[in-house]
Parts: sequence; structure tokens; C-alpha cells
Amino acid sequence: MKTEFSLAQLADPDIAEADKILRACVHCGFCTATCPTYVLLGDELDSPRGRIYLIKEMLEKNRPPTAEVVKHIDRCLSCLSCMTTCPSGVNYMHLVDQARARIEKDYRRPLGERLFRAALAWILPRPGLLRAGMILGRFGRPLAALLPTPKAESGTPTLLRRIKALLALLPGGLPAPGPAGGSVFAASGKKRGRVALLQGCAQQVMAPRINQAAISLLTRHGIEVVLVKDEQCCGALTHHLGRDDDALARARANIGVWLREAEKNGLDAILVTTSGCGTVIKDYGYMLREDRDFADPAAKISALAKDITEYLGGIPLQPTQQHSDIVIAYHSACSLQHGQKITQLPKELLSKNGFVVKDVPESHLCCGSAGTYNILQPDIANRLRDRKVANIAMIKPDMIAAGNIGCMVQIAGGTSVPVVHTVELLDWATGGPRPGLN
Ligand code: SF4
Ligand code: SF4
Repeated sequence: MKTEFSLAQLADPDIAEADKILRACVHCGFCTATCPTYVLLGDELDSPRGRIYLIKEMLEKNRPPTAEVVKHIDRCLSCLSCMTTCPSGVNYMHLVDQARARIEKDYRRPLGERLFRAALAWILPRPGLLRAGMILGRFGRPLAALLPTPKAESGTPTLLRRIKALLALLPGGLPAPGPAGGSVFAASGKKRGRVALLQGCAQQVMAPRINQAAISLLTRHGIEVVLVKDEQCCGALTHHLGRDDDALARARANIGVWLREAEKNGLDAILVTTSGCGTVIKDYGYMLREDRDFADPAAKISALAKDITEYLGGIPLQPTQQHSDIVIAYHSACSLQHGQKITQLPKELLSKNGFVVKDVPESHLCCGSAGTYNILQPDIANRLRDRKVANIAMIKPDMIAAGNIGCMVQIAGGTSVPVVHTVELLDWATGGPRPGLN
């Protein structure tokens, strides 16, 4: 794609990067067929190619984003399916990240929307606040039924619609919190390695059982696990809301505490059980490339970050129980399959450890979770969830496995089939408890 940035514009490293990405696009349109929003809405401006044009216009003309541009960028799930499909290697992720940051800086949303997004950005990355908010929100749930249901719209969802979507996502009860940061879990038997396990924010409030299963599985196989003290949210949630200052501050803080832990006690890897977070931590090196003090440390941390299945793939697991009567529908989270290009490994691990694993039809299409997307764009998100659940039902599974808490909550909202994390199943196969209580 031909671009027309001025030399002055190209002196900005972000614009120079955008220019490189835009020039790689040959506007072939292959990406449109696998874009969930284009598949649902059929509007070129809700396709990757359409959004790329909108972003190009916005950046080249250096003008504030219009409401129309914001609508179509907001509707993008950042699922990155387009990056898997693109034959030219267009890095849509870095382009849309830049567009979101530009919108956040230069576009004035209506007051209610600004306050709502600010509240999400403030509460979600703070597990203590999130827990309190969820407990309070439970009292609001009955009220949600009394609120009028706005019609599904073609424009931006109303604040009321978003509040209803948020309340609908709240769980009926919350489990007790997991272990605190600073905890160390010793390896059983001969010590073979030492890893940090990302504590996460929403996951540690909604499903601490996932990291508990990871800790049990790892320590059972000789790996010492540390929950690093003073670790923060990885920044993914605010990054996807375009709040880059917040996301980068969190990235720098995490890099500091992880590197100190690695230097003091040694770390073979930083393991992540929420693939949405893993994709962003693996991108810290890029996000901080222009930061003289943090570029190298960030690249080191990105190289240490691994999805839990990547690490488990290098350890001979010892299955103690066979579950060949259990059919697992493996839901491939977008952040794992498109963001990290991890597609076969989780399925291979499950099969090797005795489960019958089946692919979900249309597995490249997002379930609609996508960070805060199911709150901010509930109508599209619900349509994608219903489509995902219908595809899953076709293979009649006993359980659904996924590697991302966001997908797990989203899919569980549309089915009675238990939704579990891949690591819970591997823990079960090697001597842990049976998972499946949502
Ligand atoms: S597939 Fe790639 S090159 Fe083709 S239009 Fe989409 S982003 Fe551009
Ligand atoms: S990230 Fe997903 S929703 Fe956004 S343009 Fe690409 S395929 Fe479409």
C-alpha cells in the first residue's frame, strides 16, 4: 500500500513503524474472510483491510479520529485472526494498538462512556478492587433484570446496555483468594527447574484454581514455583483500552521485579496461564523498544515469558490416570493461536495424557470475549459466543478446555458443559483433582 507520510512525520518512530506496516499490505483482502466482525456484519469498514485504510487516513492526515473511525476500531476484537491469514505478514496488532492509543489521546468520547471506560481501567487490573466490585455488583444483578433491554443497535452500544452486559458477566459467588505474592512452592523430589507464575488479575479473583492446578502440576514434576512479590497486572487490559501510559508503567514495574527475582534466585521462565496476558508480555520488548532504560530488560523478559503449555511441552509428564472416555472440545483462544502461534501443543499434551481431544469447527473465529470487548460491545460479543457454543455443541464434548480465563467465562455464559483450563486437565491426569466446577 502506498503511503504519503512527510519526512517530519516519519521522524516519529511510531509513525515510521506504522508506515512500514501499511506498506506491507497489498490490499488483497484475504484477511476479510477470517475476520469475525466482517463475517458477522459484512461491512468492509469492519474488516481488517477497511480498518487499515481508516488508520492510514487518520495517521497520514494527522487529524483527530472521527466518530466513524472510532466506531469501527472499537468494534475490532484484536483477535489477530487477520494476522494468521495475511500472506504479506502485515502486523495488524501493532497498527491497531497505535490507533487505539491515538483515539484515547485525541478523541473525546461522551461523558458516560469516558467514566465507564475509566472505571474499567481503574478496577479491572486491581484484584482487591475487582473482588470488592464483584461482590457489590452481585447486589446489582437483580436490578439488571429490571432495567429495560435496549435493542441491539448498529451503532455504539448505550451505557445502559454495557452496564447490563457487565452485570450479566458477574459470577454467582467468588472462591477464596489464592496464595499471596511472595509465596514459593518447593519442588517435590529432585528439583529440575524454577519458574515464576504470573498471578494475573481477573483470573486470580474468579478462578484461583487454575494457578493452583499449575502449581500442583509443576511442583509434582520437580519445578519450584514462585509468585513474585509486588508483581502487577501485565497491562493488557489498559493496553487494549488505548491507555498506553498505564500499560507501560505496569510493564516497567513488572520487568523490575521479575529481573530482580531472576538475578537473585534464578528463573528458567515466567509462565502464564492466561494467554491474553502472555501475548502482551511477549510484546514488552516491542512496546518498550524506544525506552533507553528498559528496551533491553523488556526484551529479556519477553524472551523469558512462556505460555504454560510451552513449558510443559518440554517436561516429560507422568500420567497416572487415563481418561479416554472423556471427550474434550479444545477451544483455541485467539491470543494463543493467532497472538502466540501456539496451536497444536495444548491438544498434543491433552491427547498424550489420555484425553480424547476434538477441534471445534470454525476454531479460528473469536468467542467474543477479547478483554473488555464483551462488556463494551455486548451485542457482537453475544453473537460470537452463541456461534462458538453452537460449534462446540456439534462435537458433543464432556468438557471444554481453553487456555484463557476470558474465553472460559465467555463460553461458560452460553453452555452447561463444564469449561476448564488445559492445565487443570493435565493436573488431573497426573494425580490432581477432577476439574469441572465452574
Ligand atoms: S491479507 Fe494482509 S495484505 Fe491482504 S488486505 Fe489483509 S492485511 Fe492487507
Ligand atoms: S483483529 Fe480480529 S476483529 Fe480485528 S480486524 Fe483483525 S480479524 Fe478482524
